Amino acid sequence: MKDAMSKVLAQIDREELISLVADLVRINSVWDPEAGSNEQPAAELVAAWAQEKGFAFQMEEAAPGRPNVIITWQGGPGERTLMFEGHTDVVTPGDPAAWTVDPFGAEIKDGRMYGRGSCDTKGNLAAMLIAMAALKDSGVRLQGAIVGGVLCDEEDQMQGVRHFIDQGHADQVTGAVICEPQDGLICTSQKGAIRVEFFISGRMSHGAMPLSGLNTAPAVSELIRGLQRLEEQACERFGRDAYLGWPSFTPTVIQAPASGPRQLNVMPGEARLLVDVRTVSGQNHQEIIAGLQDMACQAEAGCLEHYTRSDVRLEIERDRDLGITTSILTDRPCTFTPEDHPLVLASDQASREITGKDPEHAGVPGATDGTFLWALKDIPIVTMGAGDRHVPHQKDEWVDLDQLLETARIYALTGLHYLS
Ligand SMILES: [Zn+2]
Repeated sequence: MKDAMSKVLAQIDREELISLVADLVRINSVWDPEAGSNEQPAAELVAAWAQEKGFAFQMEEAAPGRPNVIITWQGGPGERTLMFEGHTDVVTPGDPAAWTVDPFGAEIKDGRMYGRGSCDTKGNLAAMLIAMAALKDSGVRLQGAIVGGVLCDEEDQMQGVRHFIDQGHADQVTGAVICEPQDGLICTSQKGAIRVEFFISGRMSHGAMPLSGLNTAPAVSELIRGLQRLEEQACERFGRDAYLGWPSFTPTVIQAPASGPRQLNVMPGEARLLVDVRTVSGQNHQEIIAGLQDMACQAEAGCLEHYTRSDVRLEIERDRDLGITTSILTDRPCTFTPEDHPLVLASDQASREITGKDPEHAGVPGATDGTFLWALKDIPIVTMGAGDRHVPHQKDEWVDLDQLLETARIYALTGLHYLS
């Protein structure tokens, strides 16, 4: 094994890695149809690289102008197929003037490369490609295959990974390394997410004559109190997850009126409340959704009761047609790969060998493409990679090049161990 390890590691060249990252960072792959930028040129660069390296690959459009690149290599006969996953899209740099460097310049300063995507996740994408090539070119015979999923649209609707799954590419995959900035931590779990919209309909009126309408604001307040109760109950029942922290029910957007201009002397007839629920291991999403719907019914009943009481007191009779509808916008489960799964053990061993330190396990606070591989195909996933976890989506995004090289080496040995 020592011999195989050194053969694989000998294939990894720091300069080659850095130049591949730089080439990727210099491409603006923000999905922005108005500005005309998308993932296509980044995907083409990866495809050209795969061709040059002698890999079999396919390019498939998950959506117009948004291709996936699927790179495959059969390392030898065996049951296992290891997937490396990395996305080509990046989030907008925002105002380039807020940056002290060119967001698409790939400038290197003090051992760091700067630029949008350097950390999330073009650095790790390059590291996984270099690791795959090292495994292939080392001449070491593996027991199984490697698939590189270079996917589009991770930052938004995750159409890339869905398309990858729909096309059957995930069918043979027995484990996946999700290449995202986790600062060297080996993440075996990630939070689940339920995103909810509550739509409250009442009746619009003049602010001077509120009794001629039906205000939606008390319902919003009932809903927020209900969310606080649900959050308290979840925290009490499930406690603090060692890797993922506390479950949360966070109202994020409150809109009244639900659309159109606001005016101080107009009581809006419709309101909208958006809620971002994040879950930890053990929580059942069906149960949570039922709890949210139940809570909305109670909020509605509570408001109607209030209006009935005030109508009696004021000796009026209003049309009390207040209603709350609940829509589930997103439902992504919490993922969890057992600590003794062969993929986790392979990652642990690789990390220990390369860093000389005991691996540290953690959880991913947000969802990744791995969520869908886990949820739709039952694929065990490990999320790991170079880069400070707080740097993604900020200005002056950067990645440490020593850590990136280390990551490429860890990916390669993870592949070697998992497929040996
Ligand atoms: Zn990412």
